[in-house]
This record gives sequence, C-alpha cells and structure tokens, in this order.
Amino acid sequence: MFKKKQQTHFINSQQKDPNLATITQANQPIACPPQIDANDFISYQLCEFVEQTEAFFNIVKAECSSAAACDKMQAGLRNSYYLWDTDSKQNVKASCYCEKVLVWTTQQLQNEQLFAETENLPKDFLKQVRKIYQRVFRVWAHIYVNHYANLIKQGCDVLFQQALMQLIEFCLKYQLLEQEDLDPVKSVLK
Ligand SMILES: [Zn+2]
Repeated sequence: MFKKKQQTHFINSQQKDPNLATITQANQPIACPPQIDANDFISYQLCEFVEQTEAFFNIVKAECSSAAACDKMQAGLRNSYYLWDTDSKQNVKASCYCEKVLVWTTQQLQNEQLFAETENLPKDFLKQVRKIYQRVFRVWAHIYVNHYANLIKQGCDVLFQQALMQLIEFCLKYQLLEQEDLDPVKSVLK
C-alpha cells in the first residue's frame, strides 16, 4: 500500500506542481485500517501530508519569499527554527527553510533503508519518522501564523484549517509530535 502511494507521489511531483486540486482530492482516513501495519500507515500518511504541505506552501510562496516578516523562519516570536545541517544557529529566510524541508523530506521518503518493507524497518524507524513529521509541521505552523490572511484572500483558509486539524489529530494519535511542536498553532486547537 505504502509503496504504491510513494510511487504515485514521486510521479506526481515530477510531472506537475502540486496545486489546490491535490488538496481537495486528499481525503485520507485518520484511523489505520485493521489489516494495515501501523508503521506502514504512518509512512503512507506522511506522503499525503507532504503533498498537502507542498500545495499549501506553493499558495503562499510568493508572499513568503518577499515579506519582511519572513526574513527569519519563525512561527510566532516565541518559535524560531534553524537549519539542522549547520552547527551554528543561523537565521535563514522562511521560504528557504520551507523549501529545504520539502527537499529533505523527499530525500527521506526515497530512502529505502528507512522506508523498507514492514519486516525490515530500522529499529529507530519511529524516531526518524517523528523528526520528519516535526520538520514538515513547522512549515504548516509558519503558514498558519504568517500567511493565514493570504489563505483567506485566496479562499483556501477553510481547507487549510481542516487539513491542519487532520494533521494534528493524526500526529497526536500516533505520538508523532510533542506538545511544544504544537505551540504555534494552539489557537486552532481551542
Ligand atoms: Zn513566510
């Protein structure tokens, strides 16, 4: 199941940019079907969420690349994010950070040692996957805090909020995010 979805995801990525159609087609169930392994389901859902992340980020990308408020990767003043592949805490434009997350995530999804057959999954599979969900979620948090007005203007706010709630619900159910990861979007949870 996951393999099939993974291939579809990459074919789609190569052939066309994700757009609103991708989001509106996404209607994933949150509960793992009984015959499916939970880790496989978490992998499958990750592909879905990454497609949605790309699609929503593309909607706000132009604004994100030019807005002064996006000179740093933040989701509110209390939540600053730094690149993970440098030793120092260097500020990076939010658009660069988000794009880097998407590229890195695609590389992770192509890692056949991490997303192996169910019986061959690495021992630290969940630890690695949590890190991917955490970084992907930062893109959502940034969009929510910095670009919500833009989403409203483009008529995508309801869709975004629904998708965000679905992502949060899923991540809480499978313990993929910590409470502090959710801090920037607390208001959507009320
Ligand atoms: Zn931005």
